[in-house]
Amino acid sequence: MKRRKILILCIDAGSHDYLAASDIPNIRKLADEGFYQDANAVIPSVTNVNNVSIATGTFPEKHGITSNYYVDRKTGIGEFIEDNRFLLTPTLFEISKTTKFADKTALFVTKQKLLRMLEGGTDIAVAAEAPPSEYIDAIGPTEPIYSIEINWWLLRAVQYTLRKYDPQVVYCSTTDWVQHKFAPEAEMSQKHMAELDRIIGEIVDDDSEREIYITADHGMLDKLVALDPGRILTQEGIPADAIPIIKDRYVAHHGNLGGAAYIFLKNRDAVEAAVQVLLDTSGIEEVYAAEDAARIFHLHPDRIGDVFVLADKGTVFGELEVTSEPISVRSHGSRHESYVPIIGYNSPWSASDFEYNLDVGRLFLESLH
Ligand SMILES: [Zn+2]
Repeated sequence: MKRRKILILCIDAGSHDYLAASDIPNIRKLADEGFYQDANAVIPSVTNVNNVSIATGTFPEKHGITSNYYVDRKTGIGEFIEDNRFLLTPTLFEISKTTKFADKTALFVTKQKLLRMLEGGTDIAVAAEAPPSEYIDAIGPTEPIYSIEINWWLLRAVQYTLRKYDPQVVYCSTTDWVQHKFAPEAEMSQKHMAELDRIIGEIVDDDSEREIYITADHGMLDKLVALDPGRILTQEGIPADAIPIIKDRYVAHHGNLGGAAYIFLKNRDAVEAAVQVLLDTSGIEEVYAAEDAARIFHLHPDRIGDVFVLADKGTVFGELEVTSEPISVRSHGSRHESYVPIIGYNSPWSASDFEYNLDVGRLFLESLH
């Protein structure tokens, strides 16, 4: 039997519009010879939640990562999620090992925090932010985290590893600085995608038999209004804090403004009243008590606060000095950024088997048992 090998590439914010606006002949060829599917990202449509979902083949209700930020309900203390202490399920690398599918697995990400979250079961784990010296020697010095070049560097690291070590299971996730800064038609966006496409072409030329999936964690849209749902509720006599699900240390990407938020109420009996106030707030599109949100979006009920809100297309949530203010930022997190492509090449499945981006991980893992 042929040695089955798989490469999953998650282009951060690589939504349909970014692919459509760019000259990407190699990716188009993969889609033509394989398939191009319109799929869903997991909501909230943010990076960690979706990458962990793809790389474990499960929803947040199972893997437990519901945002970039964890608030302990008992102490009220919050902390950034930057390692795998909060991860509740094995990664596809771990399962590839325990099922004896793979003797070699490899993970490539730009940010160290995602590496720490997903590195369980990997033989090779490279974060472009702080790569091992072998990779600097082979590929050259790494690039700034706020650049398009860092994603090219990362993909060249994948190419180098495939050539040198030929691992069976490879997962690579880029970073979305460029999409936060530039719309799909912008020259920088097109340049970014064209070079990724060029390296992908070389990877396929090197080994045309590897199973390849290209998907995205979320899209990216222009936002014109910021709301602070915690401040809005507090002003209405319902003391609350809202944690935007995008909150992390990389503020230059998005100013911690995202299209979804978990709301923590001082008095948890006020859920119904809070839901009503938020439903009446312009810019807020969907509001759910935590237990409903957990059921509808497959989220972990203990890790989403008391109320979950989703913004409309032009609105984001943040921790502000006011209840509402005009802004200009490109961001994500809402339902409107939850539509992503899945391109499959040499896949044993057909397009219609993929409803969510995480089905790439799920179907692969199911086939190992
Ligand atoms: Zn992302």
